[in-house]
Amino acid sequence: MISVEEARQRILSALAPLSAETVPVTAAHGRILAEDTFAAVDLPGFDNSAMDGYAVRAAELAGAGAQSPVRLRVVGQAAAGEFFAGEVTGESCVRIFTGSPLPAGADAVVMQEETRAAGAGTVEILERVRAWENVRRQGEDARRGVVVGAAGDRLGAGKIGLHAASGIVEARVGRRPVTGLLATGNELREPGLALGRGEIYESNRAMLRPLVTAAGGVAKIYPVAADTLAATRAALEEALAECDVVITTGGVSVGALDFVKAAWTELGGTVDFWKVSMKPGKPFAFGRRGEKSWFGLPGNPVSALVTFLLLARPALLRLQGATETGLPAHSAVLADGLANRGDRRHFMRVRVDAAGRAHNAGIQASHFLSSAAAANGLVDVPPGTVWAAGAMATVLRWEW
Ligand code: AMP
Ligand code: MG
Repeated sequence: MISVEEARQRILSALAPLSAETVPVTAAHGRILAEDTFAAVDLPGFDNSAMDGYAVRAAELAGAGAQSPVRLRVVGQAAAGEFFAGEVTGESCVRIFTGSPLPAGADAVVMQEETRAAGAGTVEILERVRAWENVRRQGEDARRGVVVGAAGDRLGAGKIGLHAASGIVEARVGRRPVTGLLATGNELREPGLALGRGEIYESNRAMLRPLVTAAGGVAKIYPVAADTLAATRAALEEALAECDVVITTGGVSVGALDFVKAAWTELGGTVDFWKVSMKPGKPFAFGRRGEKSWFGLPGNPVSALVTFLLLARPALLRLQGATETGLPAHSAVLADGLANRGDRRHFMRVRVDAAGRAHNAGIQASHFLSSAAAANGLVDVPPGTVWAAGAMATVLRWEW
């Protein structure tokens, strides 16, 4: 049995990023950059106004105040997208709007609210401004040619916005790993069918699918495989031919009907390790065949969930070239005490509320889905540890 860190390390070091592909930035959300990206234009592209108001010369307004208004001639206006043809002087100003290019001669903008119409094409300025006040300077956000995204970065909404605004049309990103989801078990029925005695609805594939997608993979669902060596082998063989990654659930314990390891080995795959010192999820297995990898998740739904998040999700990200593969972690105050009396690390389901307090999400047994449904985080409680309510803990989060 190996530690979670060792398992993750061995998985990550066994995997190299898949080939890169070019995608439009508009379709790149969640993708991982294979190469650095560079701003194609200055952002902003020109000095422009941050406010609705008047473009002025700051130096001429040093004495302006509510008691000492300075009267200026309004010589024109510039809407957003429009350049004012003339020039602002010490006695004149130009009506301007948020995003309008700053007219020549001007070096500041007085907010509309700090002015008063004075009739006959003039305005009174009631407040002094500093040079460049209310002006967004050309290139202050990103200069043309600077790196706006680094290889290995994941493109979130903010980064997509920055890329689009910087004139980047396409980006080289890691290919999404095609990820087969395969469930094993004689007792498993497809949701919607009638259940016979002793049968249960299959739920792991449905649960893992959105997690694969959120990690950037392309999920591919396979039919349930019966608990025979031949059926398991045939199912694995089909998935292996079509996928970069095969994730199985169930059939990796020590039971007489646990055939997944044997089937994988018969297909020429290696079993790099089996069993990880964690709860839930101990009978996790990882193997490879050529460039393809296999994640043998235990069948209990929460074991499958937790091992996916801690061991398979990093792999999917690494295959796309990500630098950051761990779950986002933050500290939270425990609203309930958490105790681990066992000898393996226990990843306990918690629900972090809007105030950042972590509540025990319910019964922590590995077949309990109601607590998984209530949870939005995991707390890694070391063996033989009792944490009282009020203690600080690190919560691992995931995209749901
Ligand atoms: P196994 O790892 O195959 O021994 O399964 C452990 C437990 O998880 C058993 O109670 C199974 O019925 C249950 N289980 C296995 N696979 C699934 C699945 N895909 N959906 C729901 N429950 C499952
Ligand atoms: Mg089974």
